[in-house]
Amino acid sequence: MERKGFRGTRFPTSPPPHPSTKPPKRSRLRSLRRQVPLRYRKPRRTPPCSHQPPTRPSEPEQPEIEQLGEGQVRVGPYVYMGQIGGTYLLLRDIRNGRDNASLLILDQHAAHERVLVSRIEAGGFSGMSQPLVLPLEYTLHPAERERIQEFHESLSALGFELALREQGAGTVLEVRAVPPLLERAAAGEFIREVLAGRKEDLHSLWATMACKAAIKAGDALAPDEAVNLIAQWLMTENRQFCPHGRPCVLQWGTSDLDKMFKRMG
Ligand SMILES: [Zn+2]
Repeated sequence: MERKGFRGTRFPTSPPPHPSTKPPKRSRLRSLRRQVPLRYRKPRRTPPCSHQPPTRPSEPEQPEIEQLGEGQVRVGPYVYMGQIGGTYLLLRDIRNGRDNASLLILDQHAAHERVLVSRIEAGGFSGMSQPLVLPLEYTLHPAERERIQEFHESLSALGFELALREQGAGTVLEVRAVPPLLERAAAGEFIREVLAGRKEDLHSLWATMACKAAIKAGDALAPDEAVNLIAQWLMTENRQFCPHGRPCVLQWGTSDLDKMFKRMG
């Protein structure tokens, strides 16, 4: 579908196809809820104390969160205005004042994926693993066995506990534990993608894991969940694009909107 009016953005307009439009699943929100709790801003009546310890420069500062009137919440420079289609988060940038404000649309899946992949890259979940009461099992072809051996170390580092068992003429892969970010079904999908040879390197493993763990398009987010995601996304580097190269955000300034409404020229 051609989106003529949207050409004025500074982001690419031909994203690769992406498996992020599955039916909503509330349980996928767990990974989002489990993350950094929100700190709402307390009304500031006195100037901040000058004896506060300095913040460590390596840790990105959490954006300030403030409840505004009419159910709106400010997260750093943005005001969260609501969710559209269970997929997009609508924001208003208030940095440039009312007359130069801009409108942003955040793709919740792409944004969460970027947050998660950055944490995985930084080793944020390393050493974490959750055992499965009933292991996942796969009968392997010789080529699949080779792939599993090739990626064994990387998969262990991500939190998978794998064992190979000879059974009859074939080999059975047992997945005994999975990264805490992944539910059983998502972990199974992930392993099947590795077996199918679709992952070539560690980065593509990380991107796939983030994709399987992230909230999906169609997941309804409560306002505090949306605000939490926006805050985490604002603390993430390279946040303009998801690990697959799709844009996380589209933005239009007032002059872009003027052009789209043919107010100019
Ligand atoms: Zn994805």
